[in-house]
Amino acid sequence: MESKLNPTAITEKVCMLTWILRKGDLVLKDQMLFGVQHSSNKIDCFVCSFCYRFISSIEHQIGRKLYLQNLGVSTNHECDEGTTSVVAKDWNGSDSSDDEGYSDMVDCQNLGECASSSSVKIPLPMEVVQSLMHEELVLPYSTEFPQPSVIPCRGGCSESYYCSKLCMEADWEMFHSLLCTGTESKSRRKEAMLAFIEHANATNDIFLLAAKAIVSTILMYRKLKAAKLKEQEKYACSEVSDDCDYHMLLEAWKPISMGYKRRWWDCMALPDDVDSCDEAAFRLQIRQLAFTSVELLKEAIFDKECELLFSLEIYGNLIGMFELNNLDLVVASPVEDYFLYVNELPESEKKKAEQVTKPFLNALGDDYSDCCQGTAFFPLQSCMNHSCLPNAKAFKREQDRDGQATIIALRSIHKGEEITISYIDEDLPLEERQASLADYGFSCKCPKCSEEQQ
Ligand SMILES: [Zn+2]
Ligand SMILES: [Zn+2]
Ligand SMILES: [Zn+2]
Repeated sequence: MESKLNPTAITEKVCMLTWILRKGDLVLKDQMLFGVQHSSNKIDCFVCSFCYRFISSIEHQIGRKLYLQNLGVSTNHECDEGTTSVVAKDWNGSDSSDDEGYSDMVDCQNLGECASSSSVKIPLPMEVVQSLMHEELVLPYSTEFPQPSVIPCRGGCSESYYCSKLCMEADWEMFHSLLCTGTESKSRRKEAMLAFIEHANATNDIFLLAAKAIVSTILMYRKLKAAKLKEQEKYACSEVSDDCDYHMLLEAWKPISMGYKRRWWDCMALPDDVDSCDEAAFRLQIRQLAFTSVELLKEAIFDKECELLFSLEIYGNLIGMFELNNLDLVVASPVEDYFLYVNELPESEKKKAEQVTKPFLNALGDDYSDCCQGTAFFPLQSCMNHSCLPNAKAFKREQDRDGQATIIALRSIHKGEEITISYIDEDLPLEERQASLADYGFSCKCPKCSEEQQ
């Protein structure tokens, strides 16, 4: 079994095109397998915990953000706290080079003179902020930007909220029933789950993603097993076993088995501020951090039959997989759209509307355009092979308003041609490209590399 669950096994994977595409055409939409909103972004954007669509009214979005800011909840993403933070800020999967091209596609228009001078915020009294948050105060034209209303978690935690019952149920079935900290949680020990989440938030939220991968495997395993038991009951078969059914565990692990994996502490690029002579100590420190995290998770949701999933080896490889494959999770904000809309109104309407909206824009400062940010693993995208002359790339279009990845064609692609994306910055010189790609375990033989090697 150990070898079958071998985290480094890769299957031959090639994405072929079955029809013809032109430049700018949508190649595919890729539903994420595992995603997480960065913990620091949770103050800025209120989104569905399953599909990452913005939820609640424009008024509530703005009011909530100003309320949390007024409470003094820090939005400083670079804060330093103790020894772990040296690496913590560089540790996110989103830091991997393949997603750089993704974030720059989010069209962050600037309101320029419309917002108060950059980063200077003019705070509002708490009563005003609260009345906006509770939607007692209505902003002009906000009905032009309707958003789904908020569905709370059925487990009773006040952490997860959804855009629909469908998202709530799907999250519960796939992940959240074991990760919830509410009264209906199915985790063994709620305090342990809280400790795990706290540790992840303080160090690296990619641990939350690894936890999602593990709980989804456990929940799928249990589902498969329950179906088998039901089948056995039909035939009055009495052999009900509590032993691990390896075939079933393997089946449940299947979606994850596709992604290329390496141990996190081995594949992580050394941060600039770590001296190369300290490399061994640094990698050991990271390994230790992963160990602490998996032990906390074990405490919260250990399942004897799925014991294999709680090994440091599997955990390290899962995080490594995210490190090597993840894309930034980015969803544009309707609050930004709203202020841009007001800014573009005919002069007289604009003047009138701004009498109400301006103080809020001034209180938000440049943060009015903050988008939802996180990191996610996309199964199809992770199966696409690399080329330094890719014919497709991840790109968010205006209409893409949830956490799905969209892959678009960079040029005409013919029927039967393989879809390729770039894992790295393809404009780097040959040696640097080859060095970066070595982390992925291959040396590139694409037309560009072949030509430059001659
Ligand atoms: Zn949703
Ligand atoms: Zn919950
Ligand atoms: Zn190449």
